[in-house]
Amino acid sequence: MTGERVLYGVAGSPGIGIGHSLVYKEKPMGSLDREIADPKMELERYHNAVDTFCRITQVKADRVAEMVGKEQGDIIRCQTDMIRDPYMNGQVEGRIALGQSAEAALSASCDLFIDLFTASEDEITRQRAADIRDMRGGMLRLLLGLPEMDFSALQPGTVLMAEELSPSAVSVLNSANVAGIVLGKGGPTSHSAILARALEIPAVLGVEGRVLDTAPGEPVIVDGNRGCVVFSPSPEMRSVYESRQNDFLQLRASLRVFVGRETRTADGERIQLAANAGSVGDATRAAGYGCDGIGLLRTEFLYLDRTSQPGEEEQFHAYRQILSAMRGKRVIIRTLDVGGDKNLPYLGQIKEENPFLGCRGLRFSLREEDMFRAHLRAVLRASAFGQAQLLLPMVTGVEEIHRAREILEEEKEVLRHRGVAFDEHLPMGVMVETVAACLMADVFSKEADFFSLGTNDLTQYVLGVDRGNARVAHLYSYFHPGVLRLIRQVLETAQSTGTKVSMCGEAAAETALTPVLLAFGLKEFSVAPVSLLPVRKTISLWSQKEAKEVTEEAMSLETEEEVRTFLKAHEK
Ligand code: PEP
Ligand code: MG
Repeated sequence: MTGERVLYGVAGSPGIGIGHSLVYKEKPMGSLDREIADPKMELERYHNAVDTFCRITQVKADRVAEMVGKEQGDIIRCQTDMIRDPYMNGQVEGRIALGQSAEAALSASCDLFIDLFTASEDEITRQRAADIRDMRGGMLRLLLGLPEMDFSALQPGTVLMAEELSPSAVSVLNSANVAGIVLGKGGPTSHSAILARALEIPAVLGVEGRVLDTAPGEPVIVDGNRGCVVFSPSPEMRSVYESRQNDFLQLRASLRVFVGRETRTADGERIQLAANAGSVGDATRAAGYGCDGIGLLRTEFLYLDRTSQPGEEEQFHAYRQILSAMRGKRVIIRTLDVGGDKNLPYLGQIKEENPFLGCRGLRFSLREEDMFRAHLRAVLRASAFGQAQLLLPMVTGVEEIHRAREILEEEKEVLRHRGVAFDEHLPMGVMVETVAACLMADVFSKEADFFSLGTNDLTQYVLGVDRGNARVAHLYSYFHPGVLRLIRQVLETAQSTGTKVSMCGEAAAETALTPVLLAFGLKEFSVAPVSLLPVRKTISLWSQKEAKEVTEEAMSLETEEEVRTFLKAHEK
């Protein structure tokens, strides 16, 4: 095939890679079934291979940990745990005892785990099947005496194309030589994607169409920002991408210095910068950039893409995992915020005429009390494993907060009776995302331990603009003076009552608004992991004095367009 063409996939690792394709096809291993002379000797052969595999893998893991980071090293090291897993061992040994070859026994036992993981409704668990396949490949090569492809010595400008690439193959890639990765399988939560991001190699995964049909040496552009691959680009396309690549590299270099740094204004004031997370993967990514905990955990992630609700146990494990990943830093767990645009038929939600004005957030939880109680117990139990805080969404009346607190106290009593550990002082905050909550902030502050400004919803309620309706999208804006006045009012009220306020809506990540939020007195921002570094950098460029000057002028303007144009012109 010749001529420019574009294939689409998912963005697995950001950046733009320009180079030539190298198509990697896994060689078939041939038949693994073979007569064995003596099961005892076969078992010994298997255990020797396991020892060698663990030694080699440990060396690889140490190298990755040294070059990229401990967490990335652990991704490789986990394969030694898999092969030594007692259940896995029992399966393999049982099969060898029945006369199977070590290769066939191992392969069949791995299939059991692969099928189990692949059937999971959880995306992260599904991706773990790739780790098992990687481990099996390494073990089989050892047992069969086959050489391993040397991925560490590729030509500069290589775009590696494959159906699937194992984490251990990605871990040895040299980012100086590999311009990009294009895979037919995999998603952003796969370990190969995590490693590609850590190595800063642009990657597009889950590409539709036949990646392996690419001609070797064909010019390719990998757009890991948009999730597309351009084959045989025209000179014009190539020059557009060269300039995008340049911009991206410059931006990345300017942000890199902010990884792991404290967030401070230009005049040295410490600002809290936390991350919004909708999965365990988000929390891990955020921890990689360095952040002051999770400012918003959207618990809906546990409820989506399934046919029945998660039980208390499953929720408890997920929250505990995130609390552990944050190593003692605060994790604000928001109770289920369904309704609005998130409709889960298995929860018995009824189709509503105006779902954003309907039974959503806390309203739904108070109606489905049993479910809410299990949800709260899961959070309470997880609170024994880190610094958890509870957050209530979509609140309009103080009586709702009272009722939620009553239920929380009753569930604490249940756990006390059961002798289960939890944080007795688990703080309970309120999302300020309705106009009523803004206007009642003084009253709410008597009941809530903290506020979290949800500007995504607040903007739609203040302006009467559905946040998901493309026809009115041009009217939806945080730069509207009405929205900004209300945010200022909440921050002033909270200051007078001594209530902590964080902002977790997308406005916190809008860097043109940063001086305004600082001048209003916002001390805690919570943004998507990808926005952590840009926001940290922007905060570092503003002093309170400068921010106040710009804000004073911005707030004297009368229209959304005037405010937006003015603030964009002053953006640093
Ligand atoms: C918000 O409304 O600003 C918010 C953070 O919550 P969500 O986007 O999940 O509704
Ligand atoms: Mg909201």
